[in-house]
Amino acid sequence: MGEHAGYEAGRREQIATGLERTRARIERACEAAARDPGEVTLVVVTKTFPASDVRLLHELGVRDVGENRHPEAGDKAAACADLDLRWHFVGQLQTNKARVVATYADVVHSVDRARLVTALAKGVPDARMLDCLVQVSLDLPPAAGRGGAMPSDVAAIADAIAADDALRLRGVMAVAPLGVDPDEAFARLRDVSAALRERWPSAGAISAGMSGDLEAAVRLGATHVRVGSAILGTRPAAR
Ligand SMILES: *Cc1c(COP(=O)(O)O)cnc(C)c1O
Repeated sequence: MGEHAGYEAGRREQIATGLERTRARIERACEAAARDPGEVTLVVVTKTFPASDVRLLHELGVRDVGENRHPEAGDKAAACADLDLRWHFVGQLQTNKARVVATYADVVHSVDRARLVTALAKGVPDARMLDCLVQVSLDLPPAAGRGGAMPSDVAAIADAIAADDALRLRGVMAVAPLGVDPDEAFARLRDVSAALRERWPSAGAISAGMSGDLEAAVRLGATHVRVGSAILGTRPAAR
């Protein structure tokens, strides 16, 4: 019991430090880009970490948490159902799991095909709406399959989301490909976002930037950064 309390205290301090550093990085990046830090939401990605860490994050003021897999995501959301949290699903999503993910997620960042739109809509509880971002592949040449729609397919997916009463189109999301200059990748995402907003002016969210490249993302207009390891530490397996 006492030992456990000691562990918890140490973990809390560790997370508090990571959180403080990350918030400071976001503030500095906003300052450098002449942006208001209030425009950037920090989503703390808790995948592989226990629900007790989610509780510590909540105590430290975090309200937006991200997960990338079902059922891990659903289990954690259920374990923390007493907390006022927004659950962001950020991982590649199989069509047969979309319906259940829609029952607990508040935002899905990884909508990258029309079939997913239909499947998600079926799971949204009555009297609720699910926020959706279209995930864009920034691979060059454009490549489907690793998660993310080709930029040329974004408009059709966005239209399908916007046409569904259970879904709300909020914007775009991407992961910078490995080995590519993140500024170059996020600049392309910004262009995709600008084109989307011409058709759907309220879909202004840009989810981009992780522990390693959040400064580039903020510089290029990110409204949501998804940060895991810089706050919670190294994950046991690469995920
Ligand atoms: C894991 C993950 C993150 C967080 O990555 P870190 O490098 O740990 O900050 C962000 N986005 C997605 C889609 C992820 O899967």
